[in-house]
Amino acid sequence: MPFRDECGVFGICHQAEASRQTYLGLYALQHRGQEAAGICSGDEQGLHLHKSQGYVADVFTEAVLDALPGDAAIGHTRYSTTGGNVASAAHPFLIHGRFGQVALCHNGNLTNTEALRTRLIADGHTFTSPSDSEVLLALINRAQADNLEDALVAALRETQGAYSLLILTEDALIAARDPHGFRPLGMGHLGETVAFSSETCAFDLVGAQYERDVQPGEMVVVSRRTGEIRSWFPLPKVQPRPCVFEHIYFARPDSLVYGRSVMVARREMGRRLALRHPVEADLVVPVPDSGVSAALGYSEQSGISFDFGIIRNHYVGRTFIEPKQTIRSFGVKVKLNPVRHLLAGKRVVLVDDSIVRGTTSKKIVQMVREAGAREVHMRIACPPTTHSCFYGIDTPKRQHLIASYMSLAEITAFVEADTLGYLDLEDLEGCMGDQDGQNFCYACFTGDYPVVPG
Ligand code: AMP
Repeated sequence: MPFRDECGVFGICHQAEASRQTYLGLYALQHRGQEAAGICSGDEQGLHLHKSQGYVADVFTEAVLDALPGDAAIGHTRYSTTGGNVASAAHPFLIHGRFGQVALCHNGNLTNTEALRTRLIADGHTFTSPSDSEVLLALINRAQADNLEDALVAALRETQGAYSLLILTEDALIAARDPHGFRPLGMGHLGETVAFSSETCAFDLVGAQYERDVQPGEMVVVSRRTGEIRSWFPLPKVQPRPCVFEHIYFARPDSLVYGRSVMVARREMGRRLALRHPVEADLVVPVPDSGVSAALGYSEQSGISFDFGIIRNHYVGRTFIEPKQTIRSFGVKVKLNPVRHLLAGKRVVLVDDSIVRGTTSKKIVQMVREAGAREVHMRIACPPTTHSCFYGIDTPKRQHLIASYMSLAEITAFVEADTLGYLDLEDLEGCMGDQDGQNFCYACFTGDYPVVPG
């Protein structure tokens, strides 16, 4: 089964407490992955690694961070994805090979790893995990090159798909982004300190200033000794296609992603949704937290008042022990609870960012009705999700995506909404300032894959 890595990465160089700063960065990126976390730091003695399953706050203690000394570090938070709960899949990966110690972590999904893995295994390589990162490290180690940078370029030339990656060596911190720039990667500064992060919310926490994105196809090399920063574009140039779903769902609204405010984009999606699918109603209610920004936009545009008619329990962990005696499915109720006083007797516009399988949406509509809502009009701040993602967003196989096998009328009936309206693709492009619809990846809505899945 292909292994999908939906994650967050953070790295920092020339910072006295690099591992502690990376810990903070990962804390801010926790939403990008709750399955496992890891940090690799570097000092004069070499590289030091700690990684484990669990939340950032659980994986790292004072003692663990004390054992990660040095002025450079990279870190990773990993999502619970299609490949399952595999302890060995935690990043970063560290090898001691031809180029000394090399640690690597990445966000994104390579589309040709299966073929590469098969070839490497045939060449006698053994893997400890199903992760793409291990394939990359193996390619680096076997590349026909005299130095690590050239070996990395040779390895990346063999790969296809999505990667925003951070590499720590004894000499350098390297950041690289695939030529399409599918996944985000920002670069920031704090005095002499250079930092990289999937999202700018992590820069805010460590006090770094966002400077720019690592460009699609760019490799930025920060010398650990001299502080010199070099940038080059060693891979063939293609039309950049950063993932639009970061702005729809995945990123935090307080982040800049691709240099754009996620909050502003989501609000605009809600506004355009209100223009495209207006309805007579009393209350705009977001599905928290994913629908909040778009619901605000819908409310602003429509003039229908906004309220938190559903409250989310923010302390829900990854597991939930149900009572043994009562036969009752808790499902979404553990996470979400309606505010009956707000919903009773109301015509509700229920706003969420997306529908994937439709099963959660159905339960939420039911919940809102049971709380006394007279009508439930569902509004979705993106187009119908009809295709799987191969570049790092964890979507189910196509046959499980409700919009791939049901019409709008059928989905409306399935989720038991009075009406259902999705954002148009054209409107989404407009929200992203994408004049000709060529500047982002919309494959999950169109099936137009910039890189053919392997
Ligand atoms: P469902 O009705 O079962 O399709 O679930 C819809 C919910 O899933 C929405 O609230 C979305 O915010 C959320 N969602 C969308 N994409 C993802 C994803 N890649 N991982 C987890 N949840 C997602």
